[in-house]
Amino acid sequence: MVILVWISTDTRMSRNKHFVSSQKQITLLFLFWIINAYTNVFGQVSLHILGTAQDAGAPQIGCKKECCISLWDNGIQENVVSLGVIDNTIKTHYLFEATPDIGQQLALLEAETRGLTNMSGIFITHGHIGHYSGLLYLGKEAMNGNNIPLFAAKRMADFLRKNGPWEQLVLNQNINIMELVPEKELKLSSNLHITPILVPHRDEYSETVGFIIKGSQKTALFIPDIDKWERWDTAIENLINEVDFAFLDATFFDGKELPNRNMDAIPHPFVVESIQRFDSLSSSEKAKIYFIHFNHTNPLLKRNSKAFQLLTEKGFQIAKTGMKFEL
Ligand SMILES: [Zn+2]
Ligand SMILES: [Zn+2]
Ligand SMILES: [Zn+2]
Repeated sequence: MVILVWISTDTRMSRNKHFVSSQKQITLLFLFWIINAYTNVFGQVSLHILGTAQDAGAPQIGCKKECCISLWDNGIQENVVSLGVIDNTIKTHYLFEATPDIGQQLALLEAETRGLTNMSGIFITHGHIGHYSGLLYLGKEAMNGNNIPLFAAKRMADFLRKNGPWEQLVLNQNINIMELVPEKELKLSSNLHITPILVPHRDEYSETVGFIIKGSQKTALFIPDIDKWERWDTAIENLINEVDFAFLDATFFDGKELPNRNMDAIPHPFVVESIQRFDSLSSSEKAKIYFIHFNHTNPLLKRNSKAFQLLTEKGFQIAKTGMKFEL
């Protein structure tokens, strides 16, 4: 395309200068339009939903209740929350979270890129099983990874370095830990920037971060796990305002989901609380919110549930495996 444009300006060079410059302007505009169209069609950076369930997936081990029985019977499984990000400009792809379903999820992501990009790193939010236990599959017994960049904040990084079996991954150089500094933007390429942000959560082994994933055109926010919104000194609405898509913790729909457990000991913003909190937002702000990280008991996992219908009517979105977003 560039060569064609050059020829078209050159052949007219001898006629008159004024015509040449206006012709150049037109061709430059045309070139800009083509590049723009190409970017819009093919995208430079894309984000892919690779799983939406809480740490233990759905159906969940040992669950014989109504939420899981039909899933067991029909062999249906919802994978644990993970995002894939592809940077087409430098032919790389990244996983956000190393879940127990990492094998399937990496294959899904690599199918998207038709093998044209390279696995270039894994970002981890925190040390709860659904978010990092998949790292085990990078070790000698499995993939035997070769210095796969592993992006984690300090406590998470130290936990992996100092505790078996994770330390083996470091010693064998299956992973290469790259420490993240909260609030500090990491530039993976000129088109893909990642900023970790500290969020309050049950931090037994690590701190917990969320991620701001900034592509060439759009930005996504990923907070799969957080205690109540009110326990955070950042107003979530301000962050939603700054991004185009917000993938937010929807572990439990309401407080009645686990009758045999003290739900105060496992705090999350109930979806009904989030709905109330976000009720005054404009419809365009609500449309940015994609609920994700569903416990097996959460009715949002079922498309025909009243909860699902309510959320859709209110103008919110529900993340689904296979969704794709251009950033
Ligand atoms: Zn989780
Ligand atoms: Zn269940
Ligand atoms: Zn957690």
